[in-house]
Amino acid sequence: MTNLLLHICCAGCLCAPLEELRKDKIHVHGYFYNPNIHPLLEFRKRLKAMRIFQESDPIEIDYCEEYGLMEYLKEVDYEGNNRCEDCYRLRLRNTANYAKEKGFDAFCSTLLFSKQQDHEKIKEIGEQISEQVGITFEYKDYRHLCECSREIAKKKMLYRQSYCGCIFSEYERYKDTTRNLYEGWKLKENMTKNNSLKEEQINCS
Ligand code: SF4
Repeated sequence: MTNLLLHICCAGCLCAPLEELRKDKIHVHGYFYNPNIHPLLEFRKRLKAMRIFQESDPIEIDYCEEYGLMEYLKEVDYEGNNRCEDCYRLRLRNTANYAKEKGFDAFCSTLLFSKQQDHEKIKEIGEQISEQVGITFEYKDYRHLCECSREIAKKKMLYRQSYCGCIFSEYERYKDTTRNLYEGWKLKENMTKNNSLKEEQINCS
């Protein structure tokens, strides 16, 4: 049986693939290391979702509970074009090192199970790190289980995030919605105009 250290990006991505890994006779030990999740309260929400998941499915998980904003900003070239690549590398490298240090047979990441991520890039980086660190990269593709995972997460009432993780992805997700925030002012302006008109009409009559 392979003793696998599985990097977990969020509870939602773990739900259905975990069963498949177990069917393949792989012993899964989770590893929550995500310095890319911002801001702090969002990080805590995703961490809490993992703990809630654990209550319904007793998987062992090691947590890095420290909020990693500064680590992320130091390691990721967020102004360049390879932000996600750096981010994958940071998390996979840390996972591989931890797996090696703790004596696991191999490492993998739930990032590979998501349709939202650059699957081929994660695979490429995983293989490179495997050679550098000297530990097996257990490549798995469970993207076809995304819908199933979503259903399980809903049933378990797990928190489901609406953006990838970093402050930049949050901006990209919501930037086009900001204009709605100002509509309240327009409403107020219209109301003031209408009231002035009414007052003028009253004064004229
Ligand atoms: S969008 Fe996601 S993968 Fe890319 S840098 Fe941000 S958190 Fe990392």
